[in-house]
Amino acid sequence: MSTLMERDSAYVANTYRRFPVEVVSGKGSLLWDTDGKRYIDLGSGIGVTAFGIADDAWQAAVTAQLGRVQHTSNLYYTEPCVALAERLCERTGMKRVFFGNSGAEANECAIKVARKYAAEHKGAEYSTVITLENSFHGRTLTTLAATGQDHFHELFQPLTPGFVHAPANDFAAMEALVAEHKVAGILMECVQGEGGVNSLELKYVRQVAELAAREDIVLMIDEVQTGNGRSGKLYAYEYYGIRPDVVTTAKGLGGGLPLGAAILGEKVADVLGFGDHGSTFGGNPVCCAGAVNVLDRIDDELLADVRRKSLYLFNELIKAKGVKSVSGMGLMIGIETKRPAAEVVAECRENGVLCLTAKHKVRLLPALNIPMELLEEAIAVIKAACAKEDRLCL
Ligand SMILES: *Cc1c(COP(=O)(O)O)cnc(C)c1O
Repeated sequence: MSTLMERDSAYVANTYRRFPVEVVSGKGSLLWDTDGKRYIDLGSGIGVTAFGIADDAWQAAVTAQLGRVQHTSNLYYTEPCVALAERLCERTGMKRVFFGNSGAEANECAIKVARKYAAEHKGAEYSTVITLENSFHGRTLTTLAATGQDHFHELFQPLTPGFVHAPANDFAAMEALVAEHKVAGILMECVQGEGGVNSLELKYVRQVAELAAREDIVLMIDEVQTGNGRSGKLYAYEYYGIRPDVVTTAKGLGGGLPLGAAILGEKVADVLGFGDHGSTFGGNPVCCAGAVNVLDRIDDELLADVRRKSLYLFNELIKAKGVKSVSGMGLMIGIETKRPAAEVVAECRENGVLCLTAKHKVRLLPALNIPMELLEEAIAVIKAACAKEDRLCL
């Protein structure tokens, strides 16, 4: 009998460099592998299992819907999809929602909205979308074109044309691109997640938002990773005091089931009409029933708790041996370590704590409701792993 790892490498496409852990089950912020080893989960499936693994309330909402109807297609009305759209609009002040199944699809929708809006209001030649260098917006050919990291592009040419990339936090560069190109939209993450957990500067984001409003450019904020309470606000753009035209989100929204959303503001709410866009699975009732449960639990109390835990993590890490800097927002944290991040993550895993990396940093995306005791236990392991080479060097 070959092992799970051997069967995976024989039959599953080789696109993932997986960690050597065979996950069998979990509960909340704990996972167990085939050997019965326990791990504290600080990655939550890359910011997806917002309330942890097999969370009771989420599971009840999902299984109740599963027993009623699991799929209808978008030819019919279902309650969870409408209930979720209502809630998203009420909580953001935005007007309509298009549902897909992933972050990339949410961004695809946003880009289509920006291009159609521009075509109708300014002319079809206004098709360029500006994104930021070092951004990440997805893996489809269009969202790869949007992603401002060349190494993702090299072997997949030609990508969708009409994307240019601006250096982050350089408003003059953004102004120059807007002057040079016929621009439909600007798409950016408030905190670049995959790019290394880097927050955009307050002044820059406000200037870009003002420029977009002035030039009638569709401002799209990618909250696939930062959204749904992860930042300590429902959406990270709230920290910047801006009003985007489109907010895209996914990851934590479904609590572990595939769900993406493009939330449309007043300016673009009615851009898409019958037949302009669609998705067979989009707005699936089971995924949406889970998401309604997730969203209803992201209340002021939970958000305050996320910010409290964030402060605790920043305070612990900033003074820890072997830590060069700490970045991020809420429970989305990047740690620049003296040791290579991959080594720190491997050592934490050996010692029962699962972390992620983002570029050269260790990245933490724990469940929003991770118990304080588990966070304390995990941070001790991380601090020890960060400090290690220091000790060896002495
Ligand atoms: C993960 C991510 C995406 C892509 O989401 P998928 O669900 O993998 O398609 C897009 N944008 C950001 C900011 C992300 O973090």
